[in-house]
Amino acid sequence: MTDLQIAQGAEALHIRDIASKLDIPESQLEFYGSNKAKLPLSLIDSEKASKSNLILVTAITPTPAGEGKTTVSIGLGDGLNYIGKKALTVIREPSLGPVFGIKGGAAGGGHSQVIPMADINLHFTGDFNAVEKANNLLAALIDNNIQAKTGNLGIDPRTVLWKRCMDMNDRGLRKIIAALGGKAGGIPRETGFNITAASEIMAILCLSNDFEDLQNRCGNIYIGDTFDGKPVYAKDLKAEGAMAVLLKDAIKPNLVQTLEANPAIIHGGPFANIAQGTNSVLATRMGLSLADYVVTEAGFGADLGAEKFLNIKCRTAGLSPKAIVLVATIRALKYHGGKPISELTEEDTDALKAGLPNLDRHLKSLQSFGVPVVVAINNFVKDTPAEKKLLMDHCTAQGIPVEISNGWAKGGEGCAPLAEAVVKAASGCDTRFRPTYDLEDSPRVKMEKICRTIYGAENVILSNKASRQLKRFETLGYGNLPICMAKTQKSLSDDEKKLGRPENFDIHIREFEIAAGAGFVVPIAGNILRMPGLPSSPASERITIDRDGNISGLF
Ligand code: ADP
Ligand code: MG
Repeated sequence: MTDLQIAQGAEALHIRDIASKLDIPESQLEFYGSNKAKLPLSLIDSEKASKSNLILVTAITPTPAGEGKTTVSIGLGDGLNYIGKKALTVIREPSLGPVFGIKGGAAGGGHSQVIPMADINLHFTGDFNAVEKANNLLAALIDNNIQAKTGNLGIDPRTVLWKRCMDMNDRGLRKIIAALGGKAGGIPRETGFNITAASEIMAILCLSNDFEDLQNRCGNIYIGDTFDGKPVYAKDLKAEGAMAVLLKDAIKPNLVQTLEANPAIIHGGPFANIAQGTNSVLATRMGLSLADYVVTEAGFGADLGAEKFLNIKCRTAGLSPKAIVLVATIRALKYHGGKPISELTEEDTDALKAGLPNLDRHLKSLQSFGVPVVVAINNFVKDTPAEKKLLMDHCTAQGIPVEISNGWAKGGEGCAPLAEAVVKAASGCDTRFRPTYDLEDSPRVKMEKICRTIYGAENVILSNKASRQLKRFETLGYGNLPICMAKTQKSLSDDEKKLGRPENFDIHIREFEIAAGAGFVVPIAGNILRMPGLPSSPASERITIDRDGNISGLF
């Protein structure tokens, strides 16, 4: 059965009955149909949140198919409920880019899914649309001001950094010329689109503490410069109020359920290769206010997702996880050990052994944070007993707790041993995490610390353009912001072809972007794109709907 068929066969409870498991009265819910609801920010209770356990799920360097972090996160949430804990899975909203591209949806898989799966993967409660509108309102105001006779700020069109956005893999919009059509069309300029999940508004939505903070962050967005070299911000266009109003509902976390009728919160969707890659701070704090265990996922491998989750999100929000689950799959390790994708289902303990340094490098990086780590082996049908034993022995020999995660095949019951191991690890954690760098470190030192401690790199090399930009950002007062690395997810290095555990490599920073509203500096390593393209055979080709509205092919 496909993920969609399993999800369609599930009997969903009314969302009010899911809310009541968290002691949320019906009067507090904003219904979006009968199985989705938005939750008011008043449910956040800092005192309760401080007593709860935050569990981060991350992974080894992924292969194109995704290694199952979302599936393990949902399975682990169900597993914790299965062993009698009050647990909640809090994860991101899917982007349509991957849904129609290669990877597919992001609502879990097999018997570890959140429902209604199709809705969650499509328009859900409209949050992505609201992000897009707020983003594009600012873009429209910029072009309008460049054209304006009165109130013209003197923005130099060649310096405008702000792009429009759309939630689609559309390489044709990556670089465009806008404002054509003569005088009435504005002043033509080169610009482009980002995918919504990589937009600064999405990052802002996910880091904001309340409506006012959201509005202030929107106002602080750095747009570009005037002809005489002065920085221009969104607040100079008086854009922030209307932008925040467009986001008034998007800022509220969404409640849904798992296949086992346990509550789950899904909110915000920044990518992890070019943004911070985790769900909203508000959703995490709300989850911690409502349950004793909150399982959350950070995108891509631990070098991107976990690093940013800790150094950006947790630091900004004053959070600290009690345990980190590192998801590994036997097929991905064999791939890192040199086995071609088409042969990953064959038993090959040599390839597996050759891939282990990738796991070890991520373990070492995670240990630098000082929080207990548990390895979860996401079990695929074709994994053999010899392979599983080899991987388990390898972890055990290093004193790292390791469990097989069977959530995909068996739901919460299949994740019970992992849940027990996580509870044990969390109960033994009495410290806060140790950040990789201090905010007072210079941007260059911050980057070096990330590249050496987390990627295992030697040096950070800046292009001339990047050096110039960095100097300017420091003059503008952004030197103390955290760093949000934009790097390929396919390798620990900035070269996606270097699999396994690359050695003796440098990280090359091509250019910088500044997300002054979100509050981070983005060094762009290698050729990472903020607007992906579709593959030659996109997943969308297989999606259909019948006369009665039944969807198929959505994974
Ligand atoms: P990630 O969050 O790491 O990107 P997902 O959890 O979204 O990965 O899983 C990616 C895909 O792999 C999904 O289609 C899911 O159904 C599938 N998948 C995950 N775990 C398993 C498993 N153990 N066996 C088979 N398929 C799986
Ligand atoms: Mg995922």
